[in-house]
Amino acid sequence: MSDDLKELHPEGEEPEEKDNQYEHFCFVCKRAESKVEKMIRLQQNMFICSDCMQKTFDAMQGSGFNMDDLMKDGRMPNISMINLSDMNLFQPQRQKLKRKKEKEEKKPAFDLKKVPAPHVIKERLDEYVVGQEYAKKIMSVAVYNHYKRVATGHMDDIEIEKSNMLMIGPTGCGKTYLVQTLAKLLDVPLAITDATSLTEAGYIGDDIESVVSKLLAAAGDDVEKAETGIIFIDEIDKIAKKKNTNQRDVSGESVQQGMLKLLEGADIEVPVGASSKTAMVPMTTVNTRNILFICGGAFPEIEDIIKERLNKQASIGFLGDLKDKYDKDDNLLQKVTVEDVKKFGMIPEFVGRLPILFSLEALSEDMLVRILKEPKNAILKQYKKLLELDEVKLNFTEDAVRCIAKKAKEKKIGARALRAIIEEFMLDIMYEIPKDANIGQVTVTEEYIEKKGGPLITMRGSGESALGERSVAL
Ligand code: ADP
Repeated sequence: MSDDLKELHPEGEEPEEKDNQYEHFCFVCKRAESKVEKMIRLQQNMFICSDCMQKTFDAMQGSGFNMDDLMKDGRMPNISMINLSDMNLFQPQRQKLKRKKEKEEKKPAFDLKKVPAPHVIKERLDEYVVGQEYAKKIMSVAVYNHYKRVATGHMDDIEIEKSNMLMIGPTGCGKTYLVQTLAKLLDVPLAITDATSLTEAGYIGDDIESVVSKLLAAAGDDVEKAETGIIFIDEIDKIAKKKNTNQRDVSGESVQQGMLKLLEGADIEVPVGASSKTAMVPMTTVNTRNILFICGGAFPEIEDIIKERLNKQASIGFLGDLKDKYDKDDNLLQKVTVEDVKKFGMIPEFVGRLPILFSLEALSEDMLVRILKEPKNAILKQYKKLLELDEVKLNFTEDAVRCIAKKAKEKKIGARALRAIIEEFMLDIMYEIPKDANIGQVTVTEEYIEKKGGPLITMRGSGESALGERSVAL
């Protein structure tokens, strides 16, 4: 190190450092402290890595100048004359990387003992997600295997394959909800993105790697945590190759191509605390090898592809089945295979990197009824809790619950319709109840939901009375 640099921070004098939990960044190449060999402190909180420092010196010497001569005869200012803090290199806190804790560095990134066994994961999912038994089972095993793989790392020669998943199911049947619940119970960061918003680098939209920065943000800028997180890519069917077109398909197929290395495991350079790479944003590297990728989509009309395949198989055999044998099969989606997905327009390399393929069932009216009542945070329980805070008991008759489920089923958007329907009729109740402190109980009836009457109101310490008009003050 030159004398001039020593002058900038004389021995023994540690410049003021208020927040020690963040890593320092080289202000030239923007790499984090943990990624470079050595970091040299210039002034206040300005740092440069030894590589960049060396390159600077090499460049100056290569140009035929002798630094010492230049400084001596005053043709180049002494470095100490430049006040680097005057340069506007301020970096917001959110763009800094959390420093790895010393203790954590020694233990493995993931403690296998903490990953619950598949049956425990499934039980926990059961508390929140209604039905979808097969999906819950297959996910529990896949997740368990995935984190087993993470925990063992490169311990022996047999490398366990990644358990990336592809789930197929109609809208509103719980795909996102399953993944969210899974991430919560495993306490790993989760990033959710929509495949339709992803584009190849250089096009308008989020480039494919932006999903990794989302995950880093979800992990509180902790790279280690992000590297064992989950990325959920929704609407994956929207990036299928277009069928029957002769034009080159830039949107779908190339996005699939672009995602290959991400799914498999690669070092991805991502900006810290920002969604795009700009000159001033520090960069860090996130390895996606241990990130679990789950892709989901409705894959409309894939049933036709499945049906066609099954019919073909049947006609080849001597069974000679009826052609419309599968037309009324409700469980057609459960019979999906990799071939069907490829035929739909997903490229073989892409499907190959999502080895766990399964489908979810469309929600029946009975399942919708259960979703209203049973999960730990069921919508009806939430409203009951809200009114309980006003010391009012809220009831729903069985007919009312069934009526809500029926209305939701008609909307064909799965369980998503439930909340919209309930919010509509609960608005009046939530508005009117706090007006009258004498109301002790409200019962939502089928008539009220059908807009043929009002809810049943019980005053504190008195009998019931039915309100004839929905809009009547309660
Ligand atoms: P999608 O399959 O389109 O991703 P979501 O997972 O976003 O659907 O479901 C929307 C909402 O419906 C969830 O937030 C959840 O509250 C509810 N929901 C859907 N399916 C279920 C289910 N099987 N069990 C409990 N709640 C569900």
